[in-house]
Parts: sequence; structure tokens; C-alpha cells
Amino acid sequence: MYRTKAYSAASDTSPLVFTTVTRRDPTDRDVAIDILFCGICHSDLHSVRNEWSSIMPTTYPIVPGHEIVGRVTRVGSAVSAFKPGDLAAVGCMVDSDRTCPECHAGFEQFCPNATFTYNSPDKHLGGVTYGGYSDSIVVDEHFVLRVPANLEPAGAAPLLCAGITTYSPMRRRGVGKGKKVGVVGLGGLGHMAVKIAHALGAHVVVFTTSPQKKEDALRLGADEVVISRHANEMKKHVWSFDFILDAVSADHDINTYINLLGRDGYITLVGAPEKPFAVAGFGLLFGRRSLSGSLIGGIAETQEMLDFCGAQHITADVEVIPIQKVNEAYERMLKSDVKYRFSIDMASLKSE
Ligand code: NAP
Ligand code: ZN
Repeated sequence: MYRTKAYSAASDTSPLVFTTVTRRDPTDRDVAIDILFCGICHSDLHSVRNEWSSIMPTTYPIVPGHEIVGRVTRVGSAVSAFKPGDLAAVGCMVDSDRTCPECHAGFEQFCPNATFTYNSPDKHLGGVTYGGYSDSIVVDEHFVLRVPANLEPAGAAPLLCAGITTYSPMRRRGVGKGKKVGVVGLGGLGHMAVKIAHALGAHVVVFTTSPQKKEDALRLGADEVVISRHANEMKKHVWSFDFILDAVSADHDINTYINLLGRDGYITLVGAPEKPFAVAGFGLLFGRRSLSGSLIGGIAETQEMLDFCGAQHITADVEVIPIQKVNEAYERMLKSDVKYRFSIDMASLKSE
């Protein structure tokens, strides 16, 4: 075991502050990684503030962070896919049982014994897992991903959650040429969805509450931008979408978007607001539309997404910050003031 530097929160009202946490020494199948960058996902904020207490209560102290890119420093004797010096990435999961039907089908995220990167029982050390707002991490080889060499690490880090979470449902629903696709909320997830849907060849419409994001949305690959508070603009799109991805982090009226779907249209929730939605059934009955959800993606699919982003030269638009600015970044994220993902430069942790 060894100690590594990290930022943690002690309670749902505490700021993130400097600490040290214990990591295990790499076992035969482990890869030890020095973290270069870690993205800030809104899920980190939901978890730090215990906003999902009824589903996934937070154990304190919490070290968040599940958009990790770093350099391999050590590998166990049975590791074949990585060697010291390699660029490597870790997303939202660090382990699963690998024996259950979900694991066999490549859906490790639904394994009943999945270990998430933070706030999950740590079967090696006891307590809970600690995430990527940290100097280093030790992860089973199966859960370590390869980063295409042409992607710069600060912008590649958010692909590990924001990228896969938007890629997976869009691929599943056949987003591509000839499809009209809506993206609700131009935050970290939303802006990745725009880039990926555009690269897949779809006609992309962004719905935003922030009029000042309009030009950025077009630059990121949107074909149209709708200010969702403008009822007249919304009306023009009734009964027209094949697919809508809802990536909003706060309470909002989902029925408005259900009514924009065409026959057999799908709206998929990836946003995870604290409060449950009120859904008007008739919006689904007429047009036999579907409301569904999606949670990150499996490991093989995450690698597929990284390779797709490598081939398409897609990374997140990031504002790189030192870890000392993390609490400020959370406040800005709550105000939708992020262009479009914060990526923490972990070199800043060395001076603590
Ligand atoms: P984010 O960067 O904060 O973006 C959220 C966006 O939602 C904002 O930029 C804003 O976009 C919009 N928004 C915020 N408050 C709103 C309100 N009151 N009404 C309408 N729109 C509002 O967050 P993120 O990191 O992309 O995460 C988004 C959500 O996805 C979070 O709930 C997160 O926990 C969840 N998530 C889920 C998964 C999964 O596997 N399903 C994975 C990662 C994250 P505009 O300014 O454009 O309106
Ligand atoms: Zn996330």
C-alpha cells in the first residue's frame, strides 16, 4: 500500500480540500497510473453533495473523478496490454465480477457486483473506492482503456464519461445520416453528443436555456439551435425528431421534448436530476413514442468510442484548471458556465 495526494469532501456541505488516500500496490493484473488530467462531471457534484442519497448514498470522505487520463508507471506480472510509459485511461468503473450475464454480454456497468471508480465498496482495501481527483490510481487491466495517440490528454479525459454516455445510446438508436437528432442541455455531456451526432452524419438540433451558447453550438456541429424557453421556436419542431438525448442535470419539463418526437421516436435520458420526472402518458401513447435511459457504456464499447473519437479527431472542449480551483468550478457548473468541460491538470496537485 502507498499514500497518494487527492482532493476530498468530508460531508455534503464541505468543500473539496487537499488530503492523502491509500492505494493498493499493483497485483498481478493491475496497472498503476500517474494521473495527468481528470474531467469534472456533474455526477461528481451530485455525489459530493449527496443528491442521489436515495439511490446511491455517498460515503464520506469522497474523492470524486471518473474521467481519467494518465501515464502507466507499473504493471503486474500478468498484465499484457499495458507497459510503463503508455498513455492510459480509466472511466466510471474499476471492476466487476466478470462472471454474470451482464459482464459476459459486455455490460459491466450493469453487473450487480460492479465497482465504480469512486464511492463503491473497495474489495481490496475495505472502505470505498477513491476517484481521479488524485495523483495516481491502481486499476485492474480489464478496466484500463487505450487513448488514441492523436488525442490530446486534457480533452480526451472527458471522453471517459461524457463521451461514452452520449455515444452509447446514439449508436444503439441508429443515429446517423437522414436522422433528426435533438440534444437537450449544452453542458459537458451535451457538447459531446453534438460532436458525436454530427460526426455520425445526423441533422443535429440543440436545445439550450443559454442564448449565449448559440454560436458555440453551431461551431460544435449543430445544424440548428433552439432556445428552449421560447415556446414559438419549440413549436416549429413538434412531431419531427427521430431521437432526442436529454442531458440536463436539473429539474425540467420532459413532456415538452416528448411532444417533439415523431412516430416511434425515442427520447433517452442520460441526465440524472435529483428529483423524479412527471411524465404525461398521452405524450407517449400518441406516436407510440419511447422514453428510455442509458448509463455510460461497457468497457469494449468505451474502447470503440475512444477509437471512433481518434479516427474523427474528437475531444472535449475543455477549460483546464488547477485542482485548487475545483470548488469554484463546481459553482460555475451549477450556473451552466462551463465551456464545455473542466479538466483538472493534476500537475497542480504536486505543489500541495
Ligand atoms: P453539465 O456540464 O452541468 O451540463 C448540464 C446542462 O444542463 C447545462 O449546461 C445546461 O445546459 C442544462 N441545464 C442546467 N440546469 C438546467 C435547468 N434548470 N433547466 C434546463 N436545463 C438546465 O452536466 P454534465 O456533466 O453534462 O451532466 C449532465 C447530467 O448527466 C448530470 O445530471 C449528470 O449526473 C448526468 N450524467 C449521467 C451519466 C449516465 O451514465 N447516464 C453519465 C454522466 C453524467 P444549457 O445551458 O444549454 O441549457
Ligand atoms: Zn460522469
